[in-house]
Amino acid sequence: MVVGIIGLGLIGGSMAIDLKKDSRESEILGYDRSELHLQTAVKLGIIDRAVDLEGIMEADVIVLAVPVGAAVDLLPWLLDRIDKQIVTDVGSTKASLCAQVENHPKRPQYVSAHPMAGTEFSGPWAARPGLFEGCAVIICDKEKSSMDALNAVTSLFHSLHMRPVYMNSVEHDMHAAYVSHISHISSFALALTVLEKEEDTRSIFNLASGGFSSTVRLAKSSKDMWTPIFADNAENILPVLDTYVEKMQAFRAAIAEGDIEKINGLIIEANRIKKILLK
Ligand code: NAP
Repeated sequence: MVVGIIGLGLIGGSMAIDLKKDSRESEILGYDRSELHLQTAVKLGIIDRAVDLEGIMEADVIVLAVPVGAAVDLLPWLLDRIDKQIVTDVGSTKASLCAQVENHPKRPQYVSAHPMAGTEFSGPWAARPGLFEGCAVIICDKEKSSMDALNAVTSLFHSLHMRPVYMNSVEHDMHAAYVSHISHISSFALALTVLEKEEDTRSIFNLASGGFSSTVRLAKSSKDMWTPIFADNAENILPVLDTYVEKMQAFRAAIAEGDIEKINGLIIEANRIKKILLK
């Protein structure tokens, strides 16, 4: 099977690296709008062959691994041009993309997917083997895809050692706002707070403990990936953000009042997360 990947950054590049090792994939074609990224992917051996956007049509399965704002234009463009090819994507928001192509005659040849793996780094240099190992891939609105398309895409994610989880695209975006999008906003806001309050950057470096580093890690993530996600999923993010601000205010009030019991209560309540996340 020939796989064509559009967008050779962290996700597209990491998929290419592992798919190249799988004997079922005969060739990995790649396209990126950045000539530097495209040539880097060739030089690093991430893809077998660089092609232009028209050339990606040589693939049997096309993976759209670009930021969600770009996918909104590229997905209908691809569906307008494919013959028997199957298309999937890896975007972090799903509802608006699925809605956009809902009535497209080639909709059955598209499988909407979100691999639940990643890092805060981007570009082909960030691509690494084993990124997806043991992680879930959310397949959305599977009833809209043909059995052939589902089988081909599920088998592609199986070769990355991922387990499929099926979900409605609207529900996906709501849950993603709770667990993923709010964590990134919280980390960006924490980085902004520390950068504003602590003028001595050497102190940030010297005093940064494991706790600070792990909480602020996501703030290293790229604007090109996250701005389109926040814009696309605003409807789900805003109510979560309101609750988050409420919780911050509850901590603020308890600390301002010196109310030890209230502070303890908030921490004990938050500790309930331990039962859910065992590690
Ligand atoms: P990335 O490392 O920035 O890679 C995206 C690549 O796509 C870049 O090389 C970018 O080039 C290229 N690109 C942008 N617009 C394009 C277009 N119109 N045509 C062709 N190439 C284009 O981003 P990523 O982290 O791999 O994210 C890719 C997708 O995976 C996103 O939809 C994201 O939501 C999703 N995702 C990310 C993660 C994560 O943790 N990073 C996890 C799961 C899913 P330029 O640099 O020139 O823009």
